Amino acid sequence: MSCPACLSANTEIIHEATGLPTNSCLLVDDIDIALSYPWGEMALSVCLDCGFVYNGAWDGSSQYDSSYEETQTHSATFRAFATDLAQDWVDRFDLAGKSVLEIGCGSAGEFLQMMVDAGAGRVTGIDPALKIDRIDRPDASQFEWLARPYDAGYGSIEHDAVVCRHTLEHIGPVHEFMTEVRRGIGNRTDVAVLFELPDVARVLQDAAFEDVYFEHCSYFSAGSLARLFRRTGFRVTGLRRAYDDQYLLIEAYPAELGAVTGPTLDLEADLDATIIDSRRYQQRLDDVSAHWAARLGEVTARGGKNVIWGGGSKAVAFLTTLGLAGEVSAAVDINPVKQGRYLAGTGHRVIAPKELVDLEPDLVVAMNSIYVPEIRADLDRLGVGAELEGL
Ligand SMILES: [Zn+2]
Repeated sequence: MSCPACLSANTEIIHEATGLPTNSCLLVDDIDIALSYPWGEMALSVCLDCGFVYNGAWDGSSQYDSSYEETQTHSATFRAFATDLAQDWVDRFDLAGKSVLEIGCGSAGEFLQMMVDAGAGRVTGIDPALKIDRIDRPDASQFEWLARPYDAGYGSIEHDAVVCRHTLEHIGPVHEFMTEVRRGIGNRTDVAVLFELPDVARVLQDAAFEDVYFEHCSYFSAGSLARLFRRTGFRVTGLRRAYDDQYLLIEAYPAELGAVTGPTLDLEADLDATIIDSRRYQQRLDDVSAHWAARLGEVTARGGKNVIWGGGSKAVAFLTTLGLAGEVSAAVDINPVKQGRYLAGTGHRVIAPKELVDLEPDLVVAMNSIYVPEIRADLDRLGVGAELEGL
């Protein structure tokens, strides 16, 4: 399979796995359905020409509809980050009173509402998982909500900015997608194009396997992302890491057709490093997996209980990669919509933090270490004295 970002055939497989649930963010009400969830395969590959990392075995079978539950805004940490980002983009890209399209606005369109609070004018949110009844402000004069995927059928983009957060990593044909966005914008070269997505550099270096799962078919480094933007007709003006270096933020404008697309930025010079880190990923993954298997095993061997904190994709990736079942008693999640349901593929029950009082776990493993202070505060408030460690 050729590289979905630059179309080169010069690629190699760095990690293979089977038995990955094709969705890990879906809410499953029934444990039998959770346990019989469809499986997909992973053939994690790196392009030696552009540094793009992708699942060469991805078949597009992930499903995005109203049962998809991705929101992270129940976390104060994530919410504060998003609020600041919305304000920063409105200020620096002069979007006060201007129109914004968000591709992949999530089920509740929270970020677009933050953009409006920060001063944006008319906004359009498009997402197949959009739940109109979940949206706080359906005000038709300012907000337009479209519960469908963004594709060629959308037509021309009549907005002053295009925002796309944590969506591109779920799209397989990324070259085609960015080409479509560029075509939709047309002749205007003053439309701000603002994307946020996970950084594969950290995933490879730390063997952050909790971020490698079937829904994520596309994994970008700063360089491979900027190269894709240029190749598909954008002029990249900003590229940086955020959120404890977990995310990449790229800012661009449409380039004039046939124009030189501007100088490369410092962060882009990562092709050799990406290839080296890709080739080391399997060994690092083996080491990290062995560590967690031993840590959880130690607790269960003395009759103790482990729980994980996080009931989303990272939890499913953690459990399926390590092949964990009874070693983990439950997955805690602060999102009330997830509580009482089951994780796709593994069937672990998602519980509210307060259930830990009766469960009395010995070890809580946070699926994202950035939330450890927030989780510690929750555990202290509940009087749960478990050890807390983060991935
Ligand atoms: Zn490539």
